[in-house]
Amino acid sequence: MGYKIALAGNPNSGKTTVFNLLCGAREKIGNWPGTTVEKKQGYFTYQDERIEVVDLPGTYSLSVYSIDERIARDFLIREKPDLVICVIDASNLERNLYFVIQLLEMGQPVLLNLNMMDIVEKSKVRIDTQKLSKILGIDIVETVASKGSGIKDLKEKIIINLEKGIKKSFKINYQNLESAIEEITSLLKDKEIPSDIPPRAVAIRVLEQDFDLLSEIKKTIPHIEEVKNKAEAELSRLTGEDLETFIIERRYAFLKGVVKEYVKKEVSLEDRLTFSDKLDKVLTNRILGIPLFLFFMYLLFQMVFSLGSPIADLVDGFFGSLAESAKVFFENQNFPALLSSLISDGIISGVGSVLVFLPNIMLLFLGISILEDSGYLARAAFVMDRFMHALGLHGKSFIPMLLGFGCNIPGIMAARTLESRKDRILTILVNPLMSCSARLPVYTLFASVFFTKNQGLVVFSLYLLGIILAIFVAKVFKHIFFKEEVAPLVMELPPYRMPTVRNVLLSMWTRSSLFVKKAGTIIFLGVVLVWLLSSLPFGVEYAEENSLIGKFGKILAPLFKPAGFGFWQAAVALVFGILAKEVVVGTLGTLYGASEEGLKEVLLQQFTPLSAYAFLIMTLIYIPCIASIATIKRETNWKWTALAVSYSLILGWVLSVLVYQIGKLFIGG
Ligand code: GDP
Ligand code: MG
Repeated sequence: MGYKIALAGNPNSGKTTVFNLLCGAREKIGNWPGTTVEKKQGYFTYQDERIEVVDLPGTYSLSVYSIDERIARDFLIREKPDLVICVIDASNLERNLYFVIQLLEMGQPVLLNLNMMDIVEKSKVRIDTQKLSKILGIDIVETVASKGSGIKDLKEKIIINLEKGIKKSFKINYQNLESAIEEITSLLKDKEIPSDIPPRAVAIRVLEQDFDLLSEIKKTIPHIEEVKNKAEAELSRLTGEDLETFIIERRYAFLKGVVKEYVKKEVSLEDRLTFSDKLDKVLTNRILGIPLFLFFMYLLFQMVFSLGSPIADLVDGFFGSLAESAKVFFENQNFPALLSSLISDGIISGVGSVLVFLPNIMLLFLGISILEDSGYLARAAFVMDRFMHALGLHGKSFIPMLLGFGCNIPGIMAARTLESRKDRILTILVNPLMSCSARLPVYTLFASVFFTKNQGLVVFSLYLLGIILAIFVAKVFKHIFFKEEVAPLVMELPPYRMPTVRNVLLSMWTRSSLFVKKAGTIIFLGVVLVWLLSSLPFGVEYAEENSLIGKFGKILAPLFKPAGFGFWQAAVALVFGILAKEVVVGTLGTLYGASEEGLKEVLLQQFTPLSAYAFLIMTLIYIPCIASIATIKRETNWKWTALAVSYSLILGWVLSVLVYQIGKLFIGG
């Protein structure tokens, strides 16, 4: 039993030349059955192994538009060659690789032959074949077939691949279509139609509107067309694009990323640059890229906070007076005090304290959606890629981390754009370490009381500490949980586009309403729980020493003694802070029964600068706020959520104790 291999590739890529080099004169020329298309067959022997070779007609894709494509496709599916040598013109990589990734998606065992390497070298282009081979998951051989060079290597690699077999794991992320692909794949499960193509490839073909295939599948799964139509309508609603264009664009986005990363031109070819290439030259420039990116981010945050904060204040004021008037109303109506307190102190202020973030979040998402729709965000991730690798993360993790400085919730949600599970989970786990805007009121209050001379420095040190811890934690977790998963990733570069108002508003709306919905349910429960603990047993003053939460605080307080803030008010403030971190300030105010000015006096009596700093460290790190916890749960599962909560609690406690104890050694408390 020998082996059977096929040569496939675009027309004029050198297949026939390669064929002749492999088989010499041992060839048989005929026609493909029922056609006038020439069929060339031959064989060669290598170390006593007989290998049959078929030269397939040249094709640009496997989408079956032409007779040549049909021949090539049918042969690959029916005859199942042991290996497909994809011969491509390496001087036109992006276009030629399109066919290669179609083969890979079809689950074909591919060995890639980069032919025409003489032209590549002449045009001073360097292809990083090692990395290319890794990202595609297949072996690569370089040849100059017209000069016969590289053929020995090709033969060797053919044998190696035939003997070892080929792992097939290549996948393109079709983003918005992934759930439809999954749905169709699961419909196809156990149905074996058509049996020769992997279900994922069939699903993609169905979405690509392969009507022959569709009508074949319809015989067994009548509602397949409905599923496809639903996906089509959904895609058009979300992106305004049709299925086929979208799929082709996703493939080219991947290939553009591949070429951008692994193909380097040593001399510039100014006159051949498109507008998009020219823009990329500036925006992803090695030197200019990062400053430009920082500038855009500065503008974004500037917009978010300058436009958002006044609106947030209005929302805050609205809920404040709503709670007040509700109280007055209930009093006038002689409602039970407890019920009145549940509604005004609990629900209205609690939910209000979270909805206060909504204006900022909506604006942030608006900005992000514009940057994303224009194609810039993909470039930003590209620019930050190298930096993020130092964190053990991928460039695309940068956007979620950045968003985390505004609010951890959109940050955690933005991790969805990462295709690798490892990157997504790591990014989510460390996101709460980014100092979100809710921590700032706590930082500024303590800094203004205890570090009057170095306020900025102290606040900055906490932001920095968060980043350093994120690096550290990501590395440790990667080591513990994701040892073996090292998937290289390509930064996709979609085409630049004028953002459309419709797309931008739509994606802003989808994301913001997710925040409201997702945060809403659990926050509500959390608020009611905290309220209950503060109001029981009956008859106590809200959140005072003898309430359940006060007693709870007293139980917890000794735990914080080694960190220097072992009094029940601090413990209760931290517990409330889980609701939303800025609540820490308000809670201290309530518990000490003091106004803003009075609070500063009390704090000076209770804390030393050292214990105040330890308290700030705790506030930064311990337990993400309840809305973040809810979001982490929705985006991952209970296991990761439990980890996020417990590691941050332990890390926060250990660090604040360490800082306090070591600090005490040096400055004596
Ligand atoms: P096919 O259409 O894929 O079968 O391609 P052919 O084998 O017929 O080759 C097309 C043309 O490219 C012929 O003129 C070959 O001589 C030429 N060619 C093949 N390989 C190379 C190569 O490595 N470098 C260069 N410069 N030309 C090549
Ligand atoms: Mg030919």
